Order: sequence, then C-alpha cells, then structure tokens
Amino acid sequence: MRALITALLTVFAAKTAAQTPILGDPSGPVPQKVTGIVDGKPPSDAVILFDGINMDSWEHVRSGESSKWIVEDGVLTVANGTGTLVSKQSFGDIQMHIEWMPSAIIKGAGQSRGNSGIFMQALFEIQMLDSWENPTYVNGQAGSVYHQYPPLVNASRPPGEWQAYDIVFKAPIYNRDGELESPAYITLIHNGVLVLNHAEILGSTFPEVPEYRAVCEPYEIQKTMDCTGKLPLLLQDHGQVVSFRNIWLREL
Ligand code: MG
Repeated sequence: MRALITALLTVFAAKTAAQTPILGDPSGPVPQKVTGIVDGKPPSDAVILFDGINMDSWEHVRSGESSKWIVEDGVLTVANGTGTLVSKQSFGDIQMHIEWMPSAIIKGAGQSRGNSGIFMQALFEIQMLDSWENPTYVNGQAGSVYHQYPPLVNASRPPGEWQAYDIVFKAPIYNRDGELESPAYITLIHNGVLVLNHAEILGSTFPEVPEYRAVCEPYEIQKTMDCTGKLPLLLQDHGQVVSFRNIWLREL
C-alpha cells in the first residue's frame, strides 16, 4: 500500500512539475535584440510619432484632416484653435517617450497656463501644464492623471525649458460581455523623476466621475472606438502654446 501511495505521489509530482513554468529556465525564449537610446535617438524597435519633420502619424480628431499644428526647426507647436490631434495608429500596452515645453511667454494662470496633455487610448489624460509656480488643483497639475491622481512630487521645470515624460501604460482588459476585468495602469517618469507609480486608472478622465465603458466615444469622431482592443493617442489643443519633440513609443 505504501509503495502504491509513493508511486502515485511521484507521478503527481512529475505532472505538476511539467505544468509549472520553470523560473529562470536558461533555455527559455531568447529576448529580441534592441538597440537602446543613442544620442537621444529612439530605440531600434520604436514607433516614431514625431521625428522633427513628419506629421503623417497624426490627424485632427474631429475633422480627420491633416495636422495644422506648426512644425518649425524640428519642433511641433500647437496651433491654438485648430484642434486636438489623434494618432492614426492604435495601441494597447506601450512604453512612450514625449518631450514637451510650455511657452516661455507666460499667459494666464492655473489650468489656462501651458495646458496640453497626452491621452492614453484617447481616454486617460496624462496632464501637461506649466506647473512652475502655478498653483492649481493638485490632480490637474503636470504629471497628474487628470482628476484622479496628483504626481508624487512636482518635477516641473520653468516655462520655456524642455521637459520629458516617460510613460509605461497597461491597457484595460474587458471580458466578452464588455465588463472590466483589469483596469488600466500608468507609470510616469517626469524629467527623470518617478511621479506616478503603477497608478490604477479609475476610468476615462473625460467625465466628472471617471468611468469604464467597453465602447467609448470621447470625441465626436466617425469611427466607434472599441475599448476592448487597441485605441489611438490624443495630443491636446487646450488653447495654450505648448511645443513637442522626439515622440516615440514601443509596443509591449
Ligand atoms: Mg490638459
């Protein structure tokens, strides 16, 4: 009897071992080779969204027309009133880099000073604002997830100086019934400083109360945006002068 139990336990142990991934398996899939950032140039597997010249990756979100924002000397600047831009390509989980600069000429205060923003999946705004000695509500300052999370610290530079956002975005997951299975998460490094640490996103930042919906239409755009899959990015025209350069991402 004891021999039989021992034999059964041995078979069970062998089966369990076969089903369990071996951590640290040296023969596992070999990671792809990627050349990292060299002299400020994007990694070799990056999707380039603005290289200083070409704006073919973007269009206006409402009209679908080509970008009317100003490109000069390798820098993209909001042409106020022409409208928010949407990326032509859609994305799920990403690592993103974007450099931005509020105008050195200070106009307005609070939310009306150097306001723009990059929206993950067209729904979740990572706020850009001139937050150098410019008080506003804390979850609306630079480095916040708009109306949800303030940054851990204020890493802002003075207006007229370039700033960088490095973002890690985990897209939300919905089940087949459109119910949320896993929320979105955002990690943000502002000028080399961690300001959002895997923040769990409460829903779209558009409405007063954040909400998740499997089908989302944050703007009056023609195509229905299905939140179960990949979605485009938005770059906000909030009516202030903000410039951009070196915009790229890596799909994860
Ligand atoms: Mg904004």
